[in-house]
Amino acid sequence: MTDVRFECRSVGFECEWALRAPSSEEILRRMRDHVRCAHSLPDLSHDLEARVSSAVHPA
Ligand SMILES: [Zn+2]
Repeated sequence: MTDVRFECRSVGFECEWALRAPSSEEILRRMRDHVRCAHSLPDLSHDLEARVSSAVHPA
């Protein structure tokens, strides 16, 4: 299985955080933790989750 990559700035945050994971589900899980810790959001909104999903790309 091919790893996927995601950069936080690709959904509009001024942020250098990026990650590589084995699946987009794992990216979403870790992004949910990241927005709580780094961006003071209570959770990934539905809209943001959709934008994260479409910004995930092959590593
Ligand atoms: Zn970020």
